[in-house]
Amino acid sequence: MKGLLFYDRGDLRYSDIPEPEIEDENQVKVKVAYCGICGTDLHEYLEGPIFFPKKGDVNPISGATVPICPGHEMSGIVEKVGSNVTHLKPGDHVVIEASAHCSDMVHYKKTVEPKPFCSACKAGKPNCCKNTNFIGLGVASGGFGQYVVYGAEHILKVPDSIPIDTAALVEPISVAWHGVERANFKPGQTALVLGGGPIGLASILALRGHKAGKIVCSEPALIRRELAKKLGAEVFNPMDHKDPIGDLKALVPETEGFDASFDCSGIPVTFSTSIDALGPGGTAVNVAIWADKPIKYIPMCLTYQEKFATGSMGYVVDDFAAVIKAIDSGLIPIDCIRHMITGKVEPKDTVEKGFKELITHKETNVKILVTPNGRI
Ligand SMILES: [Zn+2]
Ligand SMILES: [Zn+2]
Repeated sequence: MKGLLFYDRGDLRYSDIPEPEIEDENQVKVKVAYCGICGTDLHEYLEGPIFFPKKGDVNPISGATVPICPGHEMSGIVEKVGSNVTHLKPGDHVVIEASAHCSDMVHYKKTVEPKPFCSACKAGKPNCCKNTNFIGLGVASGGFGQYVVYGAEHILKVPDSIPIDTAALVEPISVAWHGVERANFKPGQTALVLGGGPIGLASILALRGHKAGKIVCSEPALIRRELAKKLGAEVFNPMDHKDPIGDLKALVPETEGFDASFDCSGIPVTFSTSIDALGPGGTAVNVAIWADKPIKYIPMCLTYQEKFATGSMGYVVDDFAAVIKAIDSGLIPIDCIRHMITGKVEPKDTVEKGFKELITHKETNVKILVTPNGRI
């Protein structure tokens, strides 16, 4: 088949690549329809390998080695199912919950000896697994190729009400959905989203899916604020305010601060704002991926009003199911998801018109989708 291969930092090649085949009776083969380019893919290209195994290393879950086909934000059509798979059949439209953890080793018993579960997996928090990885990163060939094969438990059917291109955004919206779950968010509560990039925008949609009251998105770039507004948030430009914390809190006077905040930027000022703009007992969730640098943090900013600060790591399969339901029910409107798709590129152009476009025109793009099998 045709597809892209990640060899090393800065080294992606589009060519004939090995077509994955079902090797375990609990796997499913999917013909990829659309696959979004993620910030993680760009990090691997510019600074990696991070999730991909380094040259000479093997992935502990599957035994995979580079080169590996990237791409983990996929929608597709079931091509073939293993003999034990009963919930899917060829022709079904699906999305793939891309994570892999200790329980996935069983699918790769031809190449790896399954090991005991790590403590996070034992505790039912597979997204916090010490081996955490993803299809299209270190575990198996991903969605920038024509076909993928993955464990059936990761593959969810999408109803006809969800067009197959918008279905590729179920993955990034699930990242945001998990963050909202981490805040124990209740219908009617108020939320502050810091940053209007892909995950910030996805957070606005995930909050709508949770029936949020007021959603405010703080973002300095005009083009992103306009998009956040289209998705249903009230917008705030922190650069226009002398006292941004006071002015943010004034937007939710009843609670004197937000019930929950979501840092989707990952810079020192958004970290402190995510806590300072909360009302008493509010929860700040870090969804952003941070550079490994220390920042100033004063513990009393939590203590005085018993606020919570936590992080959100990836997603679990239940997040995908909930996002599909929220889109199907109309809580997350399909038109809004479409606003996030800023381009569709042919597979051979994945690097030039996809990766490089996202790197050089960060503000005008949200999600670029690759079409490994042409437009479906
Ligand atoms: Zn991603
Ligand atoms: Zn584990």
